[in-house]
Amino acid sequence: MDQVQNLVSQYFGASDRELHLGGIPVGNIAAEYGTPLFVYDSQVLDQKWNLLRKALPPEFAISYSVKANPNPAILKFFLDRGGGLEIASAGEFHRALSVGCPPEQILFAGPGKTPAELELVLSKGIGEIHIESLLEAQRISAISSQLGVPAKVAVRVNPTGDAQGGAMRMGGKPLPFGVDEETLDDVLDQILPDKFLDFQGLHLFTGTQILDYEILVDQYRKGLEIAKRVAQRLGHPLNTIDFGGGLGIPYFAQDQELNMEKLREELAVLMTQIKNEPLLAGTKLMVEPGRYLVGEGGVYVTRINDIKVSRGKKFLIVDGGMHHHLAASGNLGQTIKRNYPVALLNKLTDTPEETVDVVGPLCTPLDVLARRITLPQAEVGDLVGVFQSGGYARSASPLGFLSHATPPEVWVERGQAYLISERGS
Ligand SMILES: *Cc1c(COP(=O)(O)O)cnc(C)c1O
Repeated sequence: MDQVQNLVSQYFGASDRELHLGGIPVGNIAAEYGTPLFVYDSQVLDQKWNLLRKALPPEFAISYSVKANPNPAILKFFLDRGGGLEIASAGEFHRALSVGCPPEQILFAGPGKTPAELELVLSKGIGEIHIESLLEAQRISAISSQLGVPAKVAVRVNPTGDAQGGAMRMGGKPLPFGVDEETLDDVLDQILPDKFLDFQGLHLFTGTQILDYEILVDQYRKGLEIAKRVAQRLGHPLNTIDFGGGLGIPYFAQDQELNMEKLREELAVLMTQIKNEPLLAGTKLMVEPGRYLVGEGGVYVTRINDIKVSRGKKFLIVDGGMHHHLAASGNLGQTIKRNYPVALLNKLTDTPEETVDVVGPLCTPLDVLARRITLPQAEVGDLVGVFQSGGYARSASPLGFLSHATPPEVWVERGQAYLISERGS
């Protein structure tokens, strides 16, 4: 089955030719809120949360990684399900607090945290800060000593490349994230004696968009090995191990969905080993995914504003583009430009018959939402949708480029639509 049809039947639904989101024909949503816009379907987010919850041992806590999609409605959704939040900036910290997240349920990771950011989160009582360098540790210690309250910290580790399997490419490289495993002991020499640094445990650097469960499990295993070594040094188990995010979703035709059933089986085995290991007893385990939880629940909806042919090539010119969805244009770290799942949302079941490029209104040849894609006969006014757009879409786009209005976000849930961010000026 075609990728779009697959997504429609797995997550959304349709009435004859038209996509439904949250039980509402997409044309109605577009008419009410205007295009271009992002639509998030709560029922898909629910499905993904439940899938992940079922794959993880019950002992694992989940923190949602805010940068994938920082809309307050999304943060609240995961908070209500018992998740914590993982942030990477003061702005994300404010967003987390604004939806009622208790500071102690927030983790702060990411390189280059500024002294002002550290002061802010420490004064509010953050759950854990993940240390990315020795200088950062010193800054945290200095601020904590002024506040008179030790900071709960974990050390983010960039593991060596060994024991990571053939497909493993993330560890062992020079990276701005975390401290190299090779230097972990030296870093701990500085951190452990500091009475204003309350050492909690380790945070494992993982990659992103991992679709192979074996790679994930290998990483978790590697993290546990490092944790055991540190526990041995301490003479007691760590309080926390954070395995990071990185669970992927299928964007392109050849991508295989992450096998959650296999992941569940492997993690169940791992959990038994953890329970039988005195050096890991009682350690709180967590993951902090972003993309996996939100990516599939969002659709970017645009409208065809013009159709033209240039030297035999047909262009559908839509009212949205890479300024709202850089990733779909292939300009967010994609080396080979491949198309996201894109469809005419009001002609879902029509026969594909013409090969076109779907482009935006920006004055650059980079503004392409789909290249050489075969779609049904398109007309001005048709809706073009980009699927898999709930994470790293709006949040990772150059919204200010060409001063177009920022696209609104609409939440759909059981037949109702709610505007959760307005169109900007
Ligand atoms: C971005 C990020 C994540 C989330 O990554 P996904 O690939 O979206 O799961 C988790 N942890 C940290 C520290 C991050 O920077």
